Amino acid sequence: MAFEPRSIDAAINQRIFDTSVDLILVVDRTGNLIRVSPSSLVILGYPCEEMNGRSAIDFLYPEDLENTRNEMRLARKGRQTRNFKCRYVHRDGRVVPLVWTGVWSEPEQQHFFIGRDMTEHNAQEERLNRSQRLEAIGQLTGGIAHDFNNLLSVVIGNLDLLSTQPTLDKQAHEYLENALQASLRGAELTQQLLAFARRQSLIAQRFDLNERIAGTIALLRRTLGENIEIVTVFDDALHPVLADPAQFEAALVNLTINARDAMLSGGRLTIETHDVTLDEDYCRANTEVQPGDYVMTAVSDTGTGMTADIMARVFEPFFTTKPVGKGTGLGLSMVYGFARQSRGHIKVYSELDHGTTVRLYLPRATESGAALPQAGVTTQPEPRGGECILVVEDNVQVRKMAVAQLNQLGYQVIEAENGQMAFNILKHNDTIDLVFSDMVMPGGISGAKLAMLARGLRPGIKLLLTSGFAKGVVQNSDDFPAAVDFLNKPYRRAELAAKLRSLFDTVPR
Ligand code: ADP
Ligand code: MG
Repeated sequence: MAFEPRSIDAAINQRIFDTSVDLILVVDRTGNLIRVSPSSLVILGYPCEEMNGRSAIDFLYPEDLENTRNEMRLARKGRQTRNFKCRYVHRDGRVVPLVWTGVWSEPEQQHFFIGRDMTEHNAQEERLNRSQRLEAIGQLTGGIAHDFNNLLSVVIGNLDLLSTQPTLDKQAHEYLENALQASLRGAELTQQLLAFARRQSLIAQRFDLNERIAGTIALLRRTLGENIEIVTVFDDALHPVLADPAQFEAALVNLTINARDAMLSGGRLTIETHDVTLDEDYCRANTEVQPGDYVMTAVSDTGTGMTADIMARVFEPFFTTKPVGKGTGLGLSMVYGFARQSRGHIKVYSELDHGTTVRLYLPRATESGAALPQAGVTTQPEPRGGECILVVEDNVQVRKMAVAQLNQLGYQVIEAENGQMAFNILKHNDTIDLVFSDMVMPGGISGAKLAMLARGLRPGIKLLLTSGFAKGVVQNSDDFPAAVDFLNKPYRRAELAAKLRSLFDTVPR
């Protein structure tokens, strides 16, 4: 069957009109809708039949009316294609941002508009901006916390040294103890900042979330008080996770305390666990997480909920809506950093006046994901030794403190202020039993490289590296030598003592 060229065109036009994902509007010069494409149903929630014949003003976002009128006038004057932004209002009340291309047809005395729905695009951009902002704050915070850690190492170390002075009286001891407590609190704060910056020390283990949660709740009951009901919904067939159990517990405590603070006049706290698979689609919208198998913990409250403005900022360090002394604004920052450093994910859902759910996703442990050994922390008297230790550290104060601590513990000590000097010493001195080195040092030979060189010279030599950066961050870096031990800064003398003994007392295989 043959068509007239005109009717073929008309059929094609009709098909374009009917199948367009964008919103197509044919409008007369006063703004009445002559024809609306069927995509209006998806974009604005109205079937096109309901819009045809009505004024565009009925659907426009009022603030954008003047601008749209102006665009139409200019189009009629210039008769060229124009692009502009203008928002409409969805049937459900939501504002729909649209980008328009408009032309005016003089013969037909009609405006022809094609509008693209920017809702998803704008949301994606907003998410990207937010994650870039957090990324930038993380960089800054991590840098400051790292330097602070070094300073606190010096303070705590020197206070530890002082406290062993036999001549101190009771009063001096008290001052000392106060100073030590404050420094330790400072170290705690820098740990929280490092957690946010994804640079904390994490010891990932395979463990059962349900068991951990049950244990933590038992401890939290008192803190939560009488008027908060606690409900748990555990997935009995839950897979084990691979994460740091102590940090998971800390995260759970933070989330429950937030829930409590949101339910000051009582309510219900629900903790749920589930195996979850995050698919490509989810991860496209949440770009910081990889598709895969996770175990989810959801902490929900029936509290105040949050506005969108608050939601947008909850992960920022020091962002708090609580009165001075009540909130630090570091709780969710830590949980965020912990989730991301553990290759997991955190998602907040909240409805103002109804409540909040925070979902924490941690990676499922694989069958072979055996538990890693716990770092040795001892409460026994500090073990001493007489071996010879080469201390390599570019920061003079940190080095002096390490030397003093090692001397106190009975060790012989040789110092070097960078990797190159340390290497020269090692070449000419075969009494050194252990190299205790900082990781990042100027001069081209890092702690990691020094360890390799030392091993090359003296295969049996013991090695201990230290850094303010987290163990996980350091040990997962490409150049970290295999089977070398690590001590996180700031460390207590007791930790150093224990670590050294465990190194010296293991017999090489
Ligand atoms: P802090 O608890 O010290 O204020 P957080 O980082 O834990 O710091 O939380 C930041 C802010 O996020 C809180 O001050 C609060 O405004 C909001 N928030 C967090 N959790 C909840 C919740 N469960 N319900 C309502 N608001 C919350
Ligand atoms: Mg909090």
